[in-house]
Amino acid sequence: MMRQYELVERVHAYEPDADETLLNRAYVFSMKAHGSQKRASGDPYFSHPLEVAGICTELKLDTPTVVTALLHDTIEDTETTYEDIDRTFGKEIAALVDGVTKLSKLELQSERTKDAENFRKFVLAISDDVRVLLVKLADRLHNMRTLNHIPKPEKRQRIAQETMDLYAPLAGRIGMHELREELEDLSFRELNPDARDSIVKRQDFLTAESGGRVQRITDEIKRVLTQNNVEAWVRGRQKRPFSIWRKMQEKSISFEQLSDIMGFRVVVGSVADCYKALGVLHMTWRTVPGRFKDYISLKKPNGYQSLHTTIVGPDNARIEVQIRTVQMNDIAERGVAAHWSYKDKVGVEGEEAHAAYDFLQRLGEMAREGETLEDVIENTRLELFQDQVFCFTPKGALIALPKGATPVDFAYAVHTDVGNQTVGARINGRAAPLRTQLQNGDEVEIVRSKSQTPQPAWETMVVTGKARSAIRRYVRSVHRAEIVKIGRRIAEKAFLQVDQQLTEKGIDEAIKRLKFKTGDDLFAAVGQGQVALKEVVQAVFPESLADPSRRSRLTANGHGPGLIPIRGLTAGVAYHLGECCHPLPGDRIVGLMKAGQGVVVHTIDCDKLAEALDEPDRWIDLGWESFAADAPESTARLDVDIKNESGALATLCTIIAKAGGNIANLKVVERSSTFFRFAVDIEVRDVKHVTNIMTALRASPVVGLVERVRG
Ligand code: MN
Repeated sequence: MMRQYELVERVHAYEPDADETLLNRAYVFSMKAHGSQKRASGDPYFSHPLEVAGICTELKLDTPTVVTALLHDTIEDTETTYEDIDRTFGKEIAALVDGVTKLSKLELQSERTKDAENFRKFVLAISDDVRVLLVKLADRLHNMRTLNHIPKPEKRQRIAQETMDLYAPLAGRIGMHELREELEDLSFRELNPDARDSIVKRQDFLTAESGGRVQRITDEIKRVLTQNNVEAWVRGRQKRPFSIWRKMQEKSISFEQLSDIMGFRVVVGSVADCYKALGVLHMTWRTVPGRFKDYISLKKPNGYQSLHTTIVGPDNARIEVQIRTVQMNDIAERGVAAHWSYKDKVGVEGEEAHAAYDFLQRLGEMAREGETLEDVIENTRLELFQDQVFCFTPKGALIALPKGATPVDFAYAVHTDVGNQTVGARINGRAAPLRTQLQNGDEVEIVRSKSQTPQPAWETMVVTGKARSAIRRYVRSVHRAEIVKIGRRIAEKAFLQVDQQLTEKGIDEAIKRLKFKTGDDLFAAVGQGQVALKEVVQAVFPESLADPSRRSRLTANGHGPGLIPIRGLTAGVAYHLGECCHPLPGDRIVGLMKAGQGVVVHTIDCDKLAEALDEPDRWIDLGWESFAADAPESTARLDVDIKNESGALATLCTIIAKAGGNIANLKVVERSSTFFRFAVDIEVRDVKHVTNIMTALRASPVVGLVERVRG
């Protein structure tokens, strides 16, 4: 365990005039408070806050933050109260510890963290003072590092999933990439150990085969730079298994096709040296076209700066090299922690420091506007993994957007009102469809109309979270109004069926008895089939259902349980999933009305849609409701090539089974002396699940092509 003086020394190393007494007091206070408590590992509990404080010193956080780390579990887990902390350590630290305690409490109600209300509290707690989030991330990192001591597998899974879904993206968004990568990889180890093992095995094999290749390449780059008078620090490393896995998923390629399993970094003293180093590398080795990116002159919205290039370097290896200054490197690794620890001393604050705060603030806004956790996570993720395009307003202001962004994204990035009123766009002076993907350097002018409202179809053409959530919010409010109307009509009819009237007084009574806030809430629940009509009637006229014949009249009108909830369909409309394209929850979908059959759901790229191109009235915009955990399985069809060798088919089946897929059907569609092509029908939960299975298949040496079959 780290000793008291060691902790003080660590802080002094970067903050020479740190308050030593304060640190000592917190150390002793926490140790005493936790007393004889033990962790799941059997270690004294105090070792945990101490390790968390240690992580905070690695991030070079200020003394109040390190003190908060030491105290972070005292209110939650010991007799200590907020007042005790306030009295002993003052307002600032008490507020920080209180913030971290609130986050931990929200976590404890595991099932309910996804509630809008809890999530709102969560976000408000972290957007108040970024240091609360920093301590929480350090806390989570230590808990993930020691996850193997938790005996219950379900609990380990839940913590790992939450880390992957929430804490890792949050760390990324505030620019703490090292932390994010470690959190992701630790979660990956728990969530998908087989996939991780197979990647690690491949890495080990390649390392053994190439005999210290990373070191050889590093040395060679260093030598060439020195020879050309560029003083640099060069580091090479294997990418983490999860980064490789994600690349394989994103690009749908196998391990062998992946060029960047090694990453190299050149760190120099000045911006001028960055370009000089780049010049030397490009003169010495061949560059790979299309891979050069200058994030120094155009920095990423989260403040990241660096030059990226891919070269066919030493050893004939295709490698990616990142070139940056010491400070850029510090910011890239520590993100907001770096800005925040510089800001008082060196005056680095500047606009990049704001990027991370902006993000937290936007998150706060989303929470206040009642977004669900799924929405926010999806939105942060979408932006997280995409490259940027940089466009300009007619007045020359720079708008950075994720790649694939359209004029609608652009409009929302300028202002929500501009987005809401968009009717058209001019790109570089020419009228262009709203669907157009923007290119670097485009000048975009948005044509507006006061009478315009957001169109549901826009949701399929935007990639930014801001645009998506504004459109959804609008669509949702319209949709809700519709459901409320339907719910009211159903309820009125139900009351008539039992020879009663639904009066305002009756509504008030029902709201009170069934614990709804407003009449609209009640009718929305009725419209969506979340509350039985019987209950509503009974709440108002308890005696009216005594007669069994009346009761049966009512139930005939009740809603049956839906299959998979689809957004955009009025409750009760019959639909079925297209046999042609097997849509899965998560696929982009549209509905086609078919006389006598209700709505047939197709994936957006299904060939069948061509038949209805000139009948716009039949088309319905649809989306999946956020996936329920108990959603029924759907069937996906894959074409898979496997090597014609013994055991290959068994391997295929094992991989699918291990990934949680159930093979419903398997047939050979083509065979040759070297390979077999199988059509495999697999029961899966959603698109993410099938993507996981496909990636796991691609990671296997016996598998060649893997494709989803559509249309
Ligand atoms: Mn803790």
